[in-house]
Amino acid sequence: MLNANCIDPWAFSAERRTAVWQFPLAKLDARVTDSGVLHNPHSVIQAALTGGKNAQNQPFIDVHLSAVLQMICQRCLKTMDFPLNNTLRTLIFADENAANRADELYDDVDVLVVGDTINVQEWVEDQLLTALPYAPMHDNCQMVVLPDDNSTNPFSVLKNI
Ligand SMILES: [Zn+2]
Repeated sequence: MLNANCIDPWAFSAERRTAVWQFPLAKLDARVTDSGVLHNPHSVIQAALTGGKNAQNQPFIDVHLSAVLQMICQRCLKTMDFPLNNTLRTLIFADENAANRADELYDDVDVLVVGDTINVQEWVEDQLLTALPYAPMHDNCQMVVLPDDNSTNPFSVLKNI
């Protein structure tokens, strides 16, 4: 029997299948867990796969990844939630030459030479590593707020004049 994380990519795209996997972050390969994503035990990567054929009749599989990850802000070094929402279309090929030609033709898609099976977990790990920002930062790092205390302000007496 096939590993539960493996699919037949040709059947998946030909039959326009959809399927959803969930991978707890802690169960993913060290390539991912050592990449700056914190070991938040609650982080679960959801991977929604959709198979089909494009206008040129080329089989593809779309992978939509979603999760709320925790990363380290590279400005203030505090933790930050990083909402992951990433979709990648991958055209699949049996032969490397055709894949290379397609790679030059299309900008916004990935191409992959595949055999009879794809390990979805490894595939998701690869896409996740590509989707993670190199230097994540808060939109606004929390500033140190000084107390608004007029008694220590030497100019506060001027208000009373
Ligand atoms: Zn920050």
